[in-house]
Amino acid sequence: MPDFDTVLHPDFLVPMVPKREVITGHSVAVKAGQIAAILPRAQAQSVVGVEHVELPHCALMPGLINLHCHAAMSLLRGYADDLSLMTWLQQYIWPTERHFISREFVRDGSELAIADLLMGGTTTVADQYFFPEVTAEAVDQSGLRALLTFPVIDVETAWARDAEACINRGLALRDQYRDHDRIEVGFGPHSTYMVSEQTLSRVAMLAEELDAPVQIHLHETREEVLASVERSGMRPIDFLEQRGLLGPRTQCVHMTALGEQDIETIATHGAHVVHCPRSNLKLGAGICPVQKLIDRGVNVAIGTDGAASNNRLNMLGELQTASLIGKTQHGDPKAVDAWTALEMATLHGARALGQADRLGSIEVGKAADMIAVDLAGIQHLPRYDLASSLVYATSGSEVRWSWVAGKPLVSEGKLQTLDYTDLTARAGRWSEQLGAFRQTLEL
Ligand SMILES: [Zn+2]
Repeated sequence: MPDFDTVLHPDFLVPMVPKREVITGHSVAVKAGQIAAILPRAQAQSVVGVEHVELPHCALMPGLINLHCHAAMSLLRGYADDLSLMTWLQQYIWPTERHFISREFVRDGSELAIADLLMGGTTTVADQYFFPEVTAEAVDQSGLRALLTFPVIDVETAWARDAEACINRGLALRDQYRDHDRIEVGFGPHSTYMVSEQTLSRVAMLAEELDAPVQIHLHETREEVLASVERSGMRPIDFLEQRGLLGPRTQCVHMTALGEQDIETIATHGAHVVHCPRSNLKLGAGICPVQKLIDRGVNVAIGTDGAASNNRLNMLGELQTASLIGKTQHGDPKAVDAWTALEMATLHGARALGQADRLGSIEVGKAADMIAVDLAGIQHLPRYDLASSLVYATSGSEVRWSWVAGKPLVSEGKLQTLDYTDLTARAGRWSEQLGAFRQTLEL
């Protein structure tokens, strides 16, 4: 008899490879954190001496990969809404961060976000925030998988004095997690407007030397693009290219206001695009031309951005939005179809992380990062097309199970590694403190 730890028996299996299909009558066996076999149900049920998990009405699919988040900012959910990006940042977010950012803020905010992410089916997150060493501890303890891109900015923060200090602290963290199975550390230069030319060049050199991922906010708004042209004579994407920072390790977040030439530049360099549809819509920032990028061969992943600008961290909701606005933007209902949206949140996310060999699909040998989405509710009936149900009909709360490396972190809708009651109490304490400070900003 084969030697497995757990065998999962879903009604529907959505492996994402080798093609866009839904399989029934099959089970998935897990061993030592990896997918060990995909077996016919009858054969799988006869395996003895292992844990069997029945998943009636559930679709078992790869865990969702959220390629852009600021986890700790979940404490600022609903703190300042209905504002333009720069007003939101300059009058609310930055003054509040200057006052409150600490290890404690980052720990509580990160844990709140991790709980939210896991319950919504995210099993891997790419995060960027101050005190990434604190987020790393929270990720480690929760069992989530993450790429932590440490912030690099020129201004002083509670975390680091200047860009050089950011890089030194970040590289020490990268060293610390070098052999960690679930945590990778990369560079997070904030944007071309918050980081000097010299620093961007230095990040480019170091990232190449260390073969490390780089994530940067780029072309978030039309105003950012215009300001860059005024400042440097170049569009942000060209500025990045000139600094040697545009390549297959680079994850460009947002990417609105793109012309044909910009798309050509991204494609030529093999850089990845991270689409954050809800954040862009909410900040009125612009819309990333997803289908055009995909048609040109660019890899496009999806991110929620932080809860301060979304205000959700729910990936099912995010890929639904991505599909809907993709169609509107292109004036074509065939654009960003349901399967494309699912691929963006799985296979494409894995590729953007440089981890396509072990994440993004249910395949033997890959990490056992999976979710079970419960489609029993009447809002999913009748069911003709499962991809359609997952993308267009979910509300985001149907995730019943989330496994990372074979470990159930959400089981039957309940968090397994984080204390829900304790998280709620801590969030309550922060809302009192932050709420009082917020009033001083409005005087
Ligand atoms: Zn962001």
